[in-house]
Amino acid sequence: MAEHDYDLFVIGAGSGGVRAARVAAMSGAKVLVAEEHRVGGTCVIRGCVPKKFMVYASEYSKHFETARGYGWDIGETSFDWPRFLMAKDNEIARLSGIYVRNLQNAGAELVHGKARLIDRHTVEVEGRGRVTAAKILVATGGRPWMPHDLPGLEYAITSNEAFHLTELPKRIVIVGGGYIAVEFAGIFNGLGVDTTLVHRGPNLLRGFDDDVRSHVAQQMEERGVKIRLGAQIGSIEKTEAGLVAACVDGHNLDADVVMFAVGREPYTEGLGLEAAGVELAETGAIKVDDYSKTNVDNIWAVGDVTNRINLTPVAIREGQAFALTVFHDQPTRFDHEMVASAVFSQPPVGSVGLSEADARHQYGPKIDIYMANLRPMKETFYGGHVRCLMKLVVEQGSEKILGCHVVAPDAPEIIQMAAVAIKMGVTKPQWDSTCAVHPTLAEELVTMREKHLPPSLGQVA
Ligand code: NDP
Repeated sequence: MAEHDYDLFVIGAGSGGVRAARVAAMSGAKVLVAEEHRVGGTCVIRGCVPKKFMVYASEYSKHFETARGYGWDIGETSFDWPRFLMAKDNEIARLSGIYVRNLQNAGAELVHGKARLIDRHTVEVEGRGRVTAAKILVATGGRPWMPHDLPGLEYAITSNEAFHLTELPKRIVIVGGGYIAVEFAGIFNGLGVDTTLVHRGPNLLRGFDDDVRSHVAQQMEERGVKIRLGAQIGSIEKTEAGLVAACVDGHNLDADVVMFAVGREPYTEGLGLEAAGVELAETGAIKVDDYSKTNVDNIWAVGDVTNRINLTPVAIREGQAFALTVFHDQPTRFDHEMVASAVFSQPPVGSVGLSEADARHQYGPKIDIYMANLRPMKETFYGGHVRCLMKLVVEQGSEKILGCHVVAPDAPEIIQMAAVAIKMGVTKPQWDSTCAVHPTLAEELVTMREKHLPPSLGQVA
């Protein structure tokens, strides 16, 4: 008789947990997955997927404007938020169902309920009791972080609630300058909501290339988002007319909804990690090695709960690498270098590799910059104001492309392909030897020949 009830117990049926469970089960291992909410995790249920539907919905206001410029007669337009929500929820339910079926088809069992470690081999699942497993994988993801000491914070929402607002607000204040704040500002603005973004820093999207950051902020303002930089909300008050978000500089912002998007934290609360002796980093993330193994020999962790690169495809690859290593006898490490990402701002960002600032920090002055800032032909035709940014960061000497940054309507699609070449170590001459596809916006990327000089050098040159 087997020493344990299961070969693998996976806590969390999100992107990382589901992939790991499926691949492990395909080896013939007996796998149990516990999920306390809905199968699919943050990405499918309250993150990337519903967010992208909201981005699509919100982009129509811009499409209508463009269509008029191209000769279409479009009368009054209006948006039916409840109808959209219902369609969105139906699609999310369908996708969650696919995740469930995929688990079942792979032979993994699923149990609904919060799981808590009792010791390094025993897990208690609400409503199911205790089971033991030879190996345990923690894939519980993250959840929105909120400041604890802000008066009136109980009136604010996070992205979790933004997907289920019963009514579309007339005015929203969004706090934060990261992925989520910027994406939701674009969404609500596009849906016709009077949108104010309040960010404590000097520019949005810290960590991205500085030209990208300025370009995104400028383009968001161009589309109507009000951006208040260097500003902090000190309190929120409920009045008869709605909410008042008071900035610490004394400025008051009226809103119907105040949304905080000021970061996410690893979700480890109530997991019993202490009982199993699993070590956490100072950030609260589970500490793991290159193979996603914790300090406890039979416990691994993947995805946002480890706070490495908090992106769905990364969690999936970490889950896959874990299952190959542990259940298929194929030691596999996921390479966290050169992971591309996209911000679904409006216009969106696609980025891979080093920003100019990071490249200069790592390589000193031996960096060349190639940059184009242009209005695409789709816009010039009707006098639209969207401008696109393309930027390459290149190491002098080796001519290796260290970073590629695009702000443009199809930037996320473009960057996926650029990432293939850059991950393979493409040089600028090899990149340039690729013939352009015409007429496209992306052709600009392979036709940038002039080095971009900083303004001071530009005057001398
Ligand atoms: P981010 O870490 O991207 O941004 C957090 C923002 O909140 C920053 O602008 C930060 O400012 C600000 N902030 C932090 N603490 C405070 C505070 N006390 N008061 C005011 N502002 C504060 O977090 P998000 O919540 O936007 O997203 C979490 C993660 O989820 C992302 O980093 C990303 O990994 C992932 N994600 C990815 C998406 C994608 O791939 N498209 C979409 C959404 C999320 P400062 O810069 O000054 O620190």
